[in-house]
Amino acid sequence: MSYDYDLFVIGGGSGGIATARRAAEYGAKVGVAEVGRLGGTCVNRGCVPKKLMVYSSHFPGLIEDSRGYGWTVSDGQFDWPTLMNAVNGEVGRLNGIYQRMLDNSQVELLPHYAKFVDSHTLMVGEKTVTADKILIAVGGKPVKPSSIAGIEHTITSDEIFHLPEQPQRLMILGGGYIGCEFACILNGLGSEVTQVIRGDHILRGFDDDIRAMVQESMQAHGVKLLTQTEPVAIAPGEDGLTVTLKGPEGEETVVADAVGLAATGRRPNLDNLGLENTKVEVVNGAIAVDQYSQTAEDHIYAVGDCTDNINLTPVAIQEGRSFADTVFGGQSKLMSYENVPTAIFTTPEAATVGLTEAEAREKYGDAVKVYRSKFRPMYYVLPGKEEKTLMKLIVDTNTDKVLGAHMVGDDAAEIIQGVAIALKTGATKADFDATVGIHPSSGEEFVTMR
Ligand code: FAD
Repeated sequence: MSYDYDLFVIGGGSGGIATARRAAEYGAKVGVAEVGRLGGTCVNRGCVPKKLMVYSSHFPGLIEDSRGYGWTVSDGQFDWPTLMNAVNGEVGRLNGIYQRMLDNSQVELLPHYAKFVDSHTLMVGEKTVTADKILIAVGGKPVKPSSIAGIEHTITSDEIFHLPEQPQRLMILGGGYIGCEFACILNGLGSEVTQVIRGDHILRGFDDDIRAMVQESMQAHGVKLLTQTEPVAIAPGEDGLTVTLKGPEGEETVVADAVGLAATGRRPNLDNLGLENTKVEVVNGAIAVDQYSQTAEDHIYAVGDCTDNINLTPVAIQEGRSFADTVFGGQSKLMSYENVPTAIFTTPEAATVGLTEAEAREKYGDAVKVYRSKFRPMYYVLPGKEEKTLMKLIVDTNTDKVLGAHMVGDDAAEIIQGVAIALKTGATKADFDATVGIHPSSGEEFVTMR
């Protein structure tokens, strides 16, 4: 049977584009359907615009620090529309780059919504296309919980990049990494930020020391954190949104210009995809796949946020490339979810790879040794700030293998990226100790911990 395409990809985000280009490199005829802007969540409403805002939010601190280094600098003024125009301009530039990358790879873009008619046939806009293999890379979207009265007045991370004005008073509901990042961004840009969490600590799932230190530092930088507190109702008032909160002391109301949701997470974009016309299985709202990203229908694969694996851009890309290498490149590449490094772009930044201390203790019991180092980096001495960096290594004493590395402090993402290579290659604590440090740096602490 002949098909219009060897591979048709639904979704032109991180996973979809990387896969389409890799498959085309192997000579496959590839088409991509993208209903929105090329680049998906990461480029248009995720990692990229967020990180640009993170950079902007650091300037007040840098200006303060510069005085300790002999500079006379006035505080300066921040203009939200200028930043947001620049951020959205950069996003537009990247959309163009993605289009050129597809053109250069001879991947055909169909700028429409795609839906399964049967397991080899898709309706893409008004056009019917057939494909030998199909990759679902439709990503996810934020969910709003219907249980909170007035939830329709809240915004999600999608909308924050398009607010015409800076919310002077922002409330963030939830303690996930995206919520914490936006709490820090807006706090750094001068907004009054209140973050509301159900439990006692932000960043569930991360190492407990990391959670505690990021939380303390965020509070020290001015984020007001309300723990053991839940939103009950949100209503528009004369002076903004009135949020009724239920906490340990009973009910209270807080007024905010914007209320952002972070607690409720995201769910895969599977509505109207026509999956019922295939044998693809959906478990807990996500597409079920094996380690080759293969669904229950042999020739249909899925990668990225529409599956129930780790929701990060480099994971979506690696899943997609492994699939293309396997199916079109004649190699057998399994996706490995071990030692996937990740960062939290809060102020201070945090990054992590491998097992948390709790996970390691559960798996290896008493054979776990923890190395910790907490210090004031040299940079903060002259500005006279008490900012601290925390580094932590978790080691299996039976094998001496380093099971986890965690850090809170400046450049944590940059440093942990390098450490992740060591963990991926099975480095032992002795290997870390045998590595010569770079002096003076914070990173050298990872090879001198005793
Ligand atoms: P997406 O990038 O979401 O792409 C899916 C695409 O499919 C979309 O463009 C959508 O329009 C399209 N689509 C959906 N349905 C159809 C259809 N039926 N037909 C045609 N097109 C369709 N990850 C990191 O690694 N680091 C970070 O710092 C980071 N920060 C983030 C910050 C925020 C605020 C958010 C929301 C996410 C962040 N992420 C980060 C996560 C990262 O963005 C996602 O993991 C990544 O984009 C997933 O890629 P994907 O290809 O699975 O989906």
